[in-house]
Amino acid sequence: MSVSTNEPAKRLVAPSTRHIMTVDVEDWYTSSLDLFAEASADHGKAPDASVVRNTLRCLELFARHGCRATFFILTTVAETYPDLVREIERHGHEIGVHGYQHRLVYNLKPAEFEDDLKKSLDILRNLVRCPIVGFRAPYWSITRKSLWALEILQRAGLRYDASIFPIYRKLYGIPDAPVTPYEIRPGFWEFPPATCRVLGVNVPVAGGGYLRMLPGALLKALTRQASRSGALVFYLHPYELDPTDTHAGRRLTRLKSRLYFLQQMIGRKSNPGKIQNLFNCIRFDSITGTYPLETGSVASPTLSPSVG
Ligand SMILES: [Zn+2]
Repeated sequence: MSVSTNEPAKRLVAPSTRHIMTVDVEDWYTSSLDLFAEASADHGKAPDASVVRNTLRCLELFARHGCRATFFILTTVAETYPDLVREIERHGHEIGVHGYQHRLVYNLKPAEFEDDLKKSLDILRNLVRCPIVGFRAPYWSITRKSLWALEILQRAGLRYDASIFPIYRKLYGIPDAPVTPYEIRPGFWEFPPATCRVLGVNVPVAGGGYLRMLPGALLKALTRQASRSGALVFYLHPYELDPTDTHAGRRLTRLKSRLYFLQQMIGRKSNPGKIQNLFNCIRFDSITGTYPLETGSVASPTLSPSVG
């Protein structure tokens, strides 16, 4: 298995002028445990209740703007707050998998990953009626070291992955991977998060800290440039809508950890307004709402930029 070209043999073409919204449902502290040695003893503890408050806020914001999205759910959140998952489904969104305990895929053995995935799917499929066909790895941790995971995902009955970031970062990324949706294995699709090309390098534009920190006008210009090559995959965490969510920072003791947390807080106050501005000029849908993979009908000939 290799991902080594920006020109895949087979691409998906979006059926209309819209982009894709995705949400990773987790609380910041639980999902960051693998980054902090001081906190590793907290693995296995229940996610903080702030994930419920912030996800409900997200659902309300999306409903107000007619946005449908794919929600990749951390399974410990589903176990602790099952009604939240049902509420997401009741709002008409797609449900996907985000791992059981937010472990980095490349730190797991294939058998461990398969167990983690099976446990997650059993729990989620018992909670919702909609088909679950998509996966996003914690911290985008499907990299060259863990491409073996794709076969396991497909064997588990999933149809796509949304984890390979086409950039270079210390923790994640395959910088020369394709930047638009593509068939990564026969019958199995990859949906990379949006990037645009600046001075010969892929630059993230549509999620997380990149979205929080980019000024609105620059975000709009970069999104317009990036959307020339197809539908863009945006991503968001519910806690990024909440500038008052400081419980996680209080639990960190080392200076390096606390500084990282402060960096994660930047832009949260202005983020809801920035997202509302996006909703005013972009129509968003879920991944399978944009590409009906479960029916096998994946291609349509037209896509034009939808950012005004
Ligand atoms: Zn996550």
